[in-house]
Amino acid sequence: MTEITGSCLCGNVSYMCDTEIKMAINCHCTDCQQATGSAHGTLLFVADDAVEIKGEVTEYSHPADSGNTLTKIFCGRCGSQVAGKNTGREGVIGLRAGCIEQKDIIKPGANIFCDSAIPSTAMDPDMKKFSGMPG
Ligand SMILES: [Zn+2]
Ligand SMILES: [Zn+2]
Repeated sequence: MTEITGSCLCGNVSYMCDTEIKMAINCHCTDCQQATGSAHGTLLFVADDAVEIKGEVTEYSHPADSGNTLTKIFCGRCGSQVAGKNTGREGVIGLRAGCIEQKDIIKPGANIFCDSAIPSTAMDPDMKKFSGMPG
């Protein structure tokens, strides 16, 4: 079990959980780039029901290429995206690494959607690389 706490930039939204990290990835898809305003998104996937979110969140749902619906969960005041859900991954929530307090636990195992990566983005050559979604 790993204790994870996090918050948005302004502090209006925070969350906590003590759970198992199922998977961690660096995602270079254009959705993550636009949603985070960053070169890529780093996500830690945990059980949805383990996470207690405090504060008023705003959600935005949109269809993915896969046909699944993706939901971004963010602070409507400062805009920080704290988490995301995917109808293709029932019961799982992806926590956005940048909002997590415990920096040492953020250990992505792979880079995914590398086909849409920003060319200047450095990637660890020892990490697995997938052109799109793995498997
Ligand atoms: Zn905020
Ligand atoms: Zn992505």
